[in-house]
Amino acid sequence: MGFKQHHHLTAALIMQYALERYHFSTGSDKEFPVTTSNLNQIPVQDEVLVLGGGVAGCAASIALARKGRSVTLIEREPTPRHKVCGEFLSGEALEDLQALGIDVASLGAVPIHHVRLAAGRRAAEAPLPFPAASLTRKALDTALIAEAVAAGVRVERGRSVQALSRTASNVWQATLDDGATFEARTAFLATGKHDLRGHTRPKDPQRWVAFKMYFRLAAAQAAELAHASELMLYPGGYGGIQPVEGGIANLCWVVQQRYLARVGYRWENFLAKMQQDCPHLAMRLAGAEPLLDKPISVTHIPYGYIRRTTEDGLYCIGDQAAVIPSFTGDGISIALHTARCAVAAWLAAEPAAVFQVGLRSALLAQMHLAEFAADGLNNSLARAVLPFCLRVWPGVMRVTAKLTRITQQAVVAPQAAAS
Ligand SMILES: Cc1cc2nc3c(=O)[nH]c(=O)nc-3n(C[C@H](O)[C@H](O)[C@H](O)COP(=O)(O)OP(=O)(O)OC[C@H]3O[C@@H](n4cnc5c(N)ncnc54)[C@H](O)[C@@H]3O)c2cc1C
Repeated sequence: MGFKQHHHLTAALIMQYALERYHFSTGSDKEFPVTTSNLNQIPVQDEVLVLGGGVAGCAASIALARKGRSVTLIEREPTPRHKVCGEFLSGEALEDLQALGIDVASLGAVPIHHVRLAAGRRAAEAPLPFPAASLTRKALDTALIAEAVAAGVRVERGRSVQALSRTASNVWQATLDDGATFEARTAFLATGKHDLRGHTRPKDPQRWVAFKMYFRLAAAQAAELAHASELMLYPGGYGGIQPVEGGIANLCWVVQQRYLARVGYRWENFLAKMQQDCPHLAMRLAGAEPLLDKPISVTHIPYGYIRRTTEDGLYCIGDQAAVIPSFTGDGISIALHTARCAVAAWLAAEPAAVFQVGLRSALLAQMHLAEFAADGLNNSLARAVLPFCLRVWPGVMRVTAKLTRITQQAVVAPQAAAS
């Protein structure tokens, strides 16, 4: 059955289809048939399956639904929750979110005007060369899922994809943890940091571990942090602190596993070591109240990865397409960008393999530069001299911030956000 199958349904079937399509389910809510209608056995297979309802998956689903395409989005979490992320939204991310109908200011996003770099006892500051903001992922993901539902995406939440395979008739079939299957000719893989069996990315040789913790800072420190995003360097990694909505601050840090091993794999020991190595962080956290019982964490982040190939009908987006070093604060922007490009490519009938190769070459230069800069941050000599150099020439920070942004246009002409 072709892409336009639903247009041939009778009025009664359309009503049945609409009821099913706009049904908003949770893990405990499984009473609807998923791949076939029980009316006259007419298939209600969607045109596109989107696996993963984070930034990239939601953005792609919204854009597809607004073009009148039938989309099922499968997200394993029943409700948005905290994710390990610095929660910095770059200028490009803000533009893409605006086009999707997400008004971050109304969600309480904090405008970010400055970036500060601190290493050892030195710190330097520069204005950001683009508008930026910060917003918790919980708030952002909640808004994105709500927008997807409003756009007419059939959202299946609290349901985890266990396997994605091709059937004999070249249809992508997602098998869920409860054994249910969903089928479509096209699938968008947007499971972020989590790989699906059979579609894995290479292992992370540096074995990065990332943490996020919220703090309520002492009043004087909160006032000093104000509208700045601060990047702190220490042996084995780097961390960032910035204000988010609700008068609190997000501290997010990454460290190679071997450095974590040196402190007995205990995050609290590493936090103490970070403060010892970076007095600027110790100053920020003096008198701060931690707001989570313990930090949330994620392991094995394949920084620098860019997907080379894909299979027919499988468009890989977000972290499944490319993983930029976190210090750039550009992963969300890339997730939105890759979603937009993939939707435009699919609508223009560009095969997935052609899209993926084109996306790779469009991202390559920025990814290499970001990797090069990340190596510099992890070099002890560079760490020692960097803030000093930046004081002398703060413009370099603006240039680096600009160069490590992904600014290319869509691989094929971007579509309007709404049809
Ligand atoms: C330490 C750190 C700091 C960062 N800081 C920033 C920052 O400040 N600014 C920035 O722009 N980027 C930042 N990033 C990067 C950013 O978080 C990611 O690039 C971005 O979230 C990628 O979006 P995505 O849609 O690919 O994945 P996600 O947003 O992670 O979404 C993936 C979704 O798929 C779902 N999922 C996974 N597996 C399954 C399954 N089997 N079945 C169904 N659903 C599934 C997940 O529950 C999740 O909701 C940071 C990353 C790290 C690690």
